[in-house]
Amino acid sequence: MATHHSTYDAPGRSQPACPICGSSAPTKYGVKDGRELRICRDCRHIFWAQMPSDEQLHAFYASEYTQGHGQEEIQAANIEYYRHHAVDLVTKHGGAALCIADVGCSLPLFLEQALAVGFNTAIGVDYSQEARDYGERRGIQVMSPGEFDQIENDSLDVLRYSHSLEHMVNPMDNLVKASRKVRAGGLLHITQPNFPVFKATESSIPLKDSVWPSHLHFFNPVSLKCMVEAAGFRLISFCTVTEEQSCAATYGQIADVDYSVRMLKSLEAIGEHVRGKLNNFPYYYGENSVAFARKPASLTSRLNAAGRLFFGKLPKL
Ligand SMILES: [Zn+2]
Repeated sequence: MATHHSTYDAPGRSQPACPICGSSAPTKYGVKDGRELRICRDCRHIFWAQMPSDEQLHAFYASEYTQGHGQEEIQAANIEYYRHHAVDLVTKHGGAALCIADVGCSLPLFLEQALAVGFNTAIGVDYSQEARDYGERRGIQVMSPGEFDQIENDSLDVLRYSHSLEHMVNPMDNLVKASRKVRAGGLLHITQPNFPVFKATESSIPLKDSVWPSHLHFFNPVSLKCMVEAAGFRLISFCTVTEEQSCAATYGQIADVDYSVRMLKSLEAIGEHVRGKLNNFPYYYGENSVAFARKPASLTSRLNAAGRLFFGKLPKL
């Protein structure tokens, strides 16, 4: 019987509460390679009972990078997708002369395309020296997370996380801090691995890519929505994509569709119907989620806009 309740256990950090919604007493989901996975009873987020220490993570990624040959070729194959995606971000934002930050950018090939389609400033955030070197050759500033913390508040129009939050020990903290850098009215884009909303119960069904310490969080639409809203954003578009049939077959028996209906009603109207029924409310079976959210305009900027509207309508004397 577990009677141990310390917050930090050597060598890694233990997680007594849900790292996304803060709910206490998460329950056991299962065990992978001798490590326990827990599921939150409230937001149904799944995470490792024991998170890696900073030293373990740094050692892991240092060895990953040296093995990471071929990254440029892999990303180069996505150029067309990057270009369309960058245009989509400009369109969804609706502004001009935009500044974008891509957190966990790896080699900043996407940001090159963002500059090509009209963004005027592109900031990459990554620990990798290769990413910095690549950026330097192409006029893109790639910063460390510590340097990114120092940029001015309210200076970004678009904040992007593509397959990066699930690798962090504390994605909530990262997003909350980064959201301060986003101007009112700015856009947040997240795409990452998705799991359907599960029952809060133990299961022997393995989670895709549950490899410690590279994948530390297993988001579902409820935990993603919780994190995005806690960081001060409002979802404006949400769906899942790809492998929805096979994921439905794998996870269908532990999916809690009733809970999804209860918790995600507000997402029903912001799906993408072209993705099909299984990728939308209330199922969300696709293997990746695609979320767009907006930082609400501040009261001051809304009053200014209302003022312009009002004065613009004054009759000419
Ligand atoms: Zn939770």
